[in-house]
Amino acid sequence: MTQNAYFPSLMKPLDLGFTQLKNRVLMGSMHTGLEEEKGGFEKMAAYFAARAKGGVGLMVTGGISPNYRGRLAPHSSQLSNRFQVKKHRIITDAVHAADGKICLQILHGGRYAYHPLNCGPSAIKAPINPFKPKQLSDRGVRQTIRHYVRCAKLAREAGYDGVEVMGSEGYLINQFICSRTNKRTDQWGGSYENRIRFPLEIIRQMREEVGTDFIIIYRLSMLDLVEDGSSWEEVVQLGKAIEEAGATIINTGIGWHEARVPTIATSVPRGGFTWITRKMKEEVSIPLVTTNRINTPEVAESILNQGDADMVSMARPLLADPDFMLKAAEGRSDRINTCIGCNQACLDHVFKQQRATCLVNPQACYETELVPQPLAQKKKLAVVGAGPAGMTFAFEAADRGHDVTLFDRSDKLGGQLNIANQIPGKEEFYEMLRYFEVRLKESSVNIQLNTEVNEEALLDAGFDEVILATGVVPRTPPIEGVDHPKVMNYIDVLKLKKPVGEKVAVIGAGGIGFDVSEYLTHTGESLTLRPEAWMKEWGVDRNYEHPGGLLEQKVVEPSPRQVWMFQRKESKMGKNLGKTTGWIHRSSLKHKGVEMVTGVQYKKVDDQGLHVEKDGEITVYDVDHVILCAGQEPLRVLQQGLESKGMKVHLIGGADVASELDAKRAIRQGTELAFAI
Ligand code: FAD
Ligand code: NAP
Ligand code: SF4
Repeated sequence: MTQNAYFPSLMKPLDLGFTQLKNRVLMGSMHTGLEEEKGGFEKMAAYFAARAKGGVGLMVTGGISPNYRGRLAPHSSQLSNRFQVKKHRIITDAVHAADGKICLQILHGGRYAYHPLNCGPSAIKAPINPFKPKQLSDRGVRQTIRHYVRCAKLAREAGYDGVEVMGSEGYLINQFICSRTNKRTDQWGGSYENRIRFPLEIIRQMREEVGTDFIIIYRLSMLDLVEDGSSWEEVVQLGKAIEEAGATIINTGIGWHEARVPTIATSVPRGGFTWITRKMKEEVSIPLVTTNRINTPEVAESILNQGDADMVSMARPLLADPDFMLKAAEGRSDRINTCIGCNQACLDHVFKQQRATCLVNPQACYETELVPQPLAQKKKLAVVGAGPAGMTFAFEAADRGHDVTLFDRSDKLGGQLNIANQIPGKEEFYEMLRYFEVRLKESSVNIQLNTEVNEEALLDAGFDEVILATGVVPRTPPIEGVDHPKVMNYIDVLKLKKPVGEKVAVIGAGGIGFDVSEYLTHTGESLTLRPEAWMKEWGVDRNYEHPGGLLEQKVVEPSPRQVWMFQRKESKMGKNLGKTTGWIHRSSLKHKGVEMVTGVQYKKVDDQGLHVEKDGEITVYDVDHVILCAGQEPLRVLQQGLESKGMKVHLIGGADVASELDAKRAIRQGTELAFAI
């Protein structure tokens, strides 16, 4: 076999003895919500088949429970009976027809299971679940082991190439392993030998039952990131024993769900946790998979080259681009639609019981539903505004065969993405811009930058229809003194880079208020680009001196400014931020000493500063600047004039609706219109 010229380590096959993986990428497990939808298995088959066609070496399904009590939610999927095998065949047949390989993940939620029948090694409630678990009896433990084994056998019957046993992220197996959650005094608790008996029995009995030619991946929690987690010596002991018990591959798990350290969010340094897999490389001899925030073939290749692991796991990057591996193999990584680690459409959706998809790829998990319609009539289309909505519409409509011209008054493509990428920890937005630029340049779209269009120009040029994607303008709230020189808005700060003093009030605590506060409380290069400093700020101990891998004290770089954030609502600040990332933004600003004041009324701004009323009392904040982050209004001045002259106008993105606008909606709206127009 010839070596790939661009990413030789990534593309190198991996021989497992009884079978061979075509490359070093494992698509990590992601629950999508399709598992529980009517007709979801057919949709999942299309979703996995697309990734198999895209060339990924091995895939893992979302977590499937081995029994009723282990279901993450009352209606989550389980595989415990032969009658359930048939629907899994739809997936495995589709994957094998596309020359792919797939394992089923067996996940028992333990005390994380969100229903009153949940169970655990001990009756200790998780801080992230209101349901207190019942303690499993000795008989219950043995029965649960048999359920794992039964599930693996059924997976084999269903045509899966193997299983992944979920032993990390704080789920049942992890709960048995750590003294934090295991207070038992029988043979399943007490000493470490007793606490790891549960996973070892699962793997040992499973191997006996499924035979030698079936992949068993064990997801090993290498870094718990919680108090009373495992020590490094214990993790090594378990890794070795898991190998001996018959696992084929060990995958890396980082952090329990209840840990207060971000592990996959966009602000986590790329490949920031592969050092822990590297440590394990010296201890076991079966292939090791490393994971977390690996999102480009370049990063993956360098991780493999430096010997941190034998394979890399990427989950969200394959949601973002099913053809990731094909593009990498052709040396076209610039064409990869890169996962920006935002969680906005994947994890956040799942936590809200919505179907997962992807902010940068709205077709993810909608492979059979969101598809371009055949072109009935070629049209000459003008798109005004090259933000995410306008750009997406333009290349998708051009790909369908329309004649598309894209205008922007700015000298750059991207709209507000060029502002978002200024925030420390949001560097991935540059990747989004790169992808859009490449897509546009390779399409037939006529791009006209530095062009502020008006009605006449659009009407005279003979366009059939106009798409207004002109975005938004910042809202200026009616506060006395809002025109005082102390007052600026987020565009002044982030785009125009106007100097900001040392004492600052931020009005508005939505996504942009939080981002501006993050920007104002940082100096120097973003921590995301300085992994050592990032680890210290979040309290991760790379020397692993304490169980769980946490430092005794975080090392936070001081803020160059004193910042106060204000909102009128009484509710907790950042309540509407991402479900899985809001806590990170709040913690990060807390580290920097940002004071958050809710339930205020703004009275005025003058030379003294910002005057606010709270609970009937007026307080004057002596600040150098007041930054307005008070939401946005749609910008669609061209609409009325065009429509009055008979032009058909479509509104997308912020130009359509400004409230609750984000790039996810802008891109989805652009795609939907382009596929239908
Ligand atoms: P815009 O991006 O605003 O683009 C509109 C374009 O129209 C602009 O380029 C403008 O120059 C052009 N235009 C306007 N009028 C004319 C005219 N008459 N002629 C020619 N061109 C014109 N969203 C997220 O989903 N996740 C995030 O983490 C996130 N972070 C953000 C952080 C910050 C600091 C900011 C400011 C925004 C953030 N957003 C985020 C929001 C996201 O960027 C916007 O929702 C998105 O850009 C809106 O897309 P759009 O295409 O509707 O409009
Ligand atoms: P936003 O989320 O709607 O927040 C606006 C803030 O301004 C609120 O805190 C609101 O709080 C305040 N406000 C509204 N009207 C006001 C008025 N008249 N006077 C004073 N304060 C007022 O909007 P945004 O922060 O501008 O963000 C825009 C969009 O970008 C968001 O919808 C978001 O989805 C997206 N974005 C997302 C992220 C992300 O991380 N996912 C990051 C940045 C931006 P009170 O009404 O309580 O005062
Ligand atoms: Fe990645 Fe965001 Fe897409 Fe999730 S929604 S896959 S984090 S780009």
